[in-house]
Amino acid sequence: MGSIVKLECSRGDYEETINIGQGMRDYDPVNFLDMFSKEARTMIQSVADSGKLWSYSKKPALCNKCHRYTAVPVFEISGTKNDRLIGISDCGHDGCMVFENGEIEDTVKCPKCNSVMTVSNVGFWD
Ligand SMILES: [Zn+2]
Ligand SMILES: [Zn+2]
Repeated sequence: MGSIVKLECSRGDYEETINIGQGMRDYDPVNFLDMFSKEARTMIQSVADSGKLWSYSKKPALCNKCHRYTAVPVFEISGTKNDRLIGISDCGHDGCMVFENGEIEDTVKCPKCNSVMTVSNVGFWD
C-alpha cells in the first residue's frame, strides 16, 4: 500500500499532493513498465525474467523543470546499490531530484518562496 502525502507551504502560496510507495499491482513489472523509457523497459524485463531480486516504488522528488514536488517511479535491483532506473515523474518530466524514503519530511522548502513546508500523510492508495 502506498501513501498519499500532502505538502503545504507555511505561507500558503503552494501545495501539492503526491502518491508515493507501492501499489498492490506493482509486484508485476507489466503494471508499471509504461512509466519507463524503452531502454529501461528492456532492462527491467530482463532483470525480472532472470529471477534477480528487485524492488519498485514511487519516490518523492523535486522536478527541475516545473519546480514542484512530484513522485517518480524507481526500479532497483537488490544488492547493487547503483543499479536503479528512474522513470517519468507524475508531472511528465525526467531528471527530477529523487528523495529517499522519509527524507522528504525534514528537508522540504517551498519551491516558490523557500518557506518551510508541512508534510502530512493524508491517506493511502493501492
Ligand atoms: Zn515536472
Ligand atoms: Zn511558499
